[in-house]
Amino acid sequence: MNIIFIAPPAAGKGTQSKLLTDKYGICHISTGNLLRTEATSESELGNYIKELINNGKLVDDNIVLKLLETKLNQSDCDNGYILDGFPRNIEQAKAFNEMSNRLNRNIDYVIFLNIAKEEAMKRITGRLSCPQCGAIYNEHFDTFTSFGKCNHCSTDLVKREDDNIESFNQRFDIYLSTTQPLIEYYKAQGVLHEIDSSISKEHTFMQIENIIGGD
Ligand code: AMP
Repeated sequence: MNIIFIAPPAAGKGTQSKLLTDKYGICHISTGNLLRTEATSESELGNYIKELINNGKLVDDNIVLKLLETKLNQSDCDNGYILDGFPRNIEQAKAFNEMSNRLNRNIDYVIFLNIAKEEAMKRITGRLSCPQCGAIYNEHFDTFTSFGKCNHCSTDLVKREDDNIESFNQRFDIYLSTTQPLIEYYKAQGVLHEIDSSISKEHTFMQIENIIGGD
């Protein structure tokens, strides 16, 4: 089962990807996570990526495509993949058509998580994530066994550097101008499904399962 999520920032791509991975054993490929890992290296490339991420700009397609292909070839992706945060523009989508054909990993579902900007902004200010297991929380809405620690593995939760209003606005603008056109692109290919991602993570997951035919 191969799935792509298209959504504005903070619509729940990461949360839903984790739920799907846990239930169906397919790999979760977040290009944002791959790039953040690369950015922690003190190399010139790492610093370059970090600067772009913190300013809410997109990283160059060739860098993202290379990281993605390496990850896709790992054995944990043998049963399928979820692409979270990729493609972000038409060029990436076209390059991925070529890559997925070449690797025989064709897309089954493209799921558009729809959410209004105001709701997404509320989520971004309280977002915390677990660097160990990938769980995502909101400090305003979720309950914690021990505040600031992951409920699953007790690791200290972290806030992303780009989760501030200024960067969010920039990321949202790029989403509208560059990523949103992918909705029509995938609609034309007959693989697009749209769902409302504004109610709750459980409600969103239920709608995803209806699409992919889970039980
Ligand atoms: P995300 O974790 O998906 O919210 O991505 C965080 C940041 O990583 C984005 O704001 C971009 O700077 C960068 N990024 C993630 N995925 C891509 C992509 N497919 N193409 C270009 N930049 C990306």
